[in-house]
Amino acid sequence: MADCPGIFLLAQMKDGGLARLRLPGGRLSAVQVRAVAEVARRWGNGVVDLTNRANLQIRGLPATLPDAAVARLDAAGLVPAMRGADRLRNITADPLSGLDDAVDVGPLVAALDAALQSADLDGLSPKFAFVLDGGGRSRIAGILHDVGFVACPEGFRLSLGGTLSGDVIAAADVVDRALAEARAILASGIRRPGRVGRVDPWLGPVPQRDGAVALALDVPVARADADLLDRLAGLAVDGLRLTPWSAVVLPGIPAERVAAVVAASGLSTAVGQRVVACAGSTGCERGLADTKADGRRLAAAFGGRGAGTVHLAGCAKGCAHPGVAEILALARSDGRYDLHRQARPATAGTAWAEGVGPSEMIEQLARAS
Ligand code: SF4
Repeated sequence: MADCPGIFLLAQMKDGGLARLRLPGGRLSAVQVRAVAEVARRWGNGVVDLTNRANLQIRGLPATLPDAAVARLDAAGLVPAMRGADRLRNITADPLSGLDDAVDVGPLVAALDAALQSADLDGLSPKFAFVLDGGGRSRIAGILHDVGFVACPEGFRLSLGGTLSGDVIAAADVVDRALAEARAILASGIRRPGRVGRVDPWLGPVPQRDGAVALALDVPVARADADLLDRLAGLAVDGLRLTPWSAVVLPGIPAERVAAVVAASGLSTAVGQRVVACAGSTGCERGLADTKADGRRLAAAFGGRGAGTVHLAGCAKGCAHPGVAEILALARSDGRYDLHRQARPATAGTAWAEGVGPSEMIEQLARAS
């Protein structure tokens, strides 16, 4: 993929232009979800992917996003006031923030987003990432970040690339400190992103403080389409929140409505084998197999069973899952896959099964689980 697309700089992919919508804290209103669906349908190929930083990507667009499409997103509040800062708004937070008993970092997300738009950070990489972890169950500081803040009883501890410092920072000082650390890293010319522990993905209903339920639904292989987005917008009570593990959270659902909402969504809450797949041969020039379609078949076959991550990689770059997966299916030039255990694409080593197609892969994994 071309380097870090945004709204005004599209990546040119095999299936057309790709625009990334940065959603600080992963939050969207139902109105915004409908706007994304409309843009995807009218100007794109209708496909919208979730990213592992809780953003959205609209696929199959022209080489640049038409003015009318930008205007549609802008009217929904999805375009930053300072357009030059579009690709710097990489702020991840716990999807349950403000709903559970952990520290609500929502106001800090908004303040940092506003500050990034007025700060002089020329030259900062569009990959530069901030994380704000209120101490909730998702352990969101486990996502790759440059600068993070992790709630502690006295305030927040600073994480520089996953290394926690002894400094305790008051909430009121978090935004200034975030910008200061970004400037220092920019000046040094050396980024060392890292993680604090591991993110803890979850699905299904989670009780909120107010008695309602936050319902996390799995989006198979992180691929949605305009119809699914419209359906989710219609089910939303209090907007949507995206997660880095390709789930959509619907906050504010009455407990007695959970089963009906799950059924109407067409998505699953089953916690089991997690299937991740990159754009594959339909979306990427380097793709050797249709990883998204094969991944969907796999997810349908294994929903709620097994454990761990199955990573279908279209080539050795392994964009969808940089870490080790319990099962790695690495595509080959004949469109089939070599299967590896506990492996990452760049260093996969010897395969446990070679040249398997999707049906054989399902059989192999069923035997292995
Ligand atoms: S892993 Fe390879 S095929 Fe898949 S999106 Fe990345 S570069 Fe393309």
